[in-house]
Amino acid sequence: MRPTGKLHIGHLVGALENWVALQSEFDNYHLIADYHALTTNLDTSDLYQNSIDMIIDWLAAGIDPQKSPVFRQSQIKEHTELHLVFSMLITTSRLERNPTLKDQIRDLNMESVIYGHLGYPVLQSADILLYKGDVVPVGEDQVPHIEITREIARRFNTQWGQVFPEPEPKLTKFARLAGLDGNQKMSKSIGNTILLSDSPEEIQKKMRTAVTDTLKVRKNDPGRPDVCVVFSYHKKFNSPEVPEIRSGCESGALGCVDCKKNCSTKIADTLAPFREKRAYFESRPNEVIEILNHGESRAQHVARETMKEVRATMKIG
Ligand code: SF4
Repeated sequence: MRPTGKLHIGHLVGALENWVALQSEFDNYHLIADYHALTTNLDTSDLYQNSIDMIIDWLAAGIDPQKSPVFRQSQIKEHTELHLVFSMLITTSRLERNPTLKDQIRDLNMESVIYGHLGYPVLQSADILLYKGDVVPVGEDQVPHIEITREIARRFNTQWGQVFPEPEPKLTKFARLAGLDGNQKMSKSIGNTILLSDSPEEIQKKMRTAVTDTLKVRKNDPGRPDVCVVFSYHKKFNSPEVPEIRSGCESGALGCVDCKKNCSTKIADTLAPFREKRAYFESRPNEVIEILNHGESRAQHVARETMKEVRATMKIG
């Protein structure tokens, strides 16, 4: 995950819950992709603090650093070394065909693409294969990158000898949460988020701005819950009441103000244990740094072993 600072409820639903669940099934590695952040923003002044804020959110969400190392990509030099080797195994035209890149160019209104941005799926392949990852928990938009990773692994194994697995994507069940403004994507850069660290009051305040059914103008107008962002949040955070909310909205018995208040309360209640854990780690910065150092030394050990094998297989060791 790129270090974007404090995380929002879309991250919880789209990634963190999945990661936490997978901890009991797999040996997980959690990478803070700080070099990846440079592909779209060269300002590094907040990079470290954003990484720390993000780790605190991970820990508060239930990532167990004893089981699953957390570490920064920039601190494990082997990522950049393997990236270099992998960059010899893929053509620029293959990278230009990457649909995720095309979407980013459109969304960010980019006139041209820097070399590092074009090649970021190659760096991502190194991030995955350095740890010989065989399963990668991703959203739909990242599946093309896993395909590139598989192609690079295959190409390496055919060219020099078997080293890498061909990883499979593992899609999240509830892949995406819409933003408060109705945008399909909840994103800090759009400004349509509820942060995991928001207080109940902040959640109430933000929820007042949420887009509902535009045809439900007055309280007793019948509404269409399936086009309403608030209803999608109820589905995630308040599932037992969903049938009642649907019928109240459709009949006009339920007004949007009450519906939003209820939704805010349910989200705030769900996040209460998270906020408590977050406060614990926030007040113990040394403990967080120790966790990070420990994760980095564990990741480093695995990365070194893989690179030794890579160099030996390529006969450049
Ligand atoms: S009543 Fe609730 S579900 Fe219906 S439109 Fe209003 S906020 Fe959305």
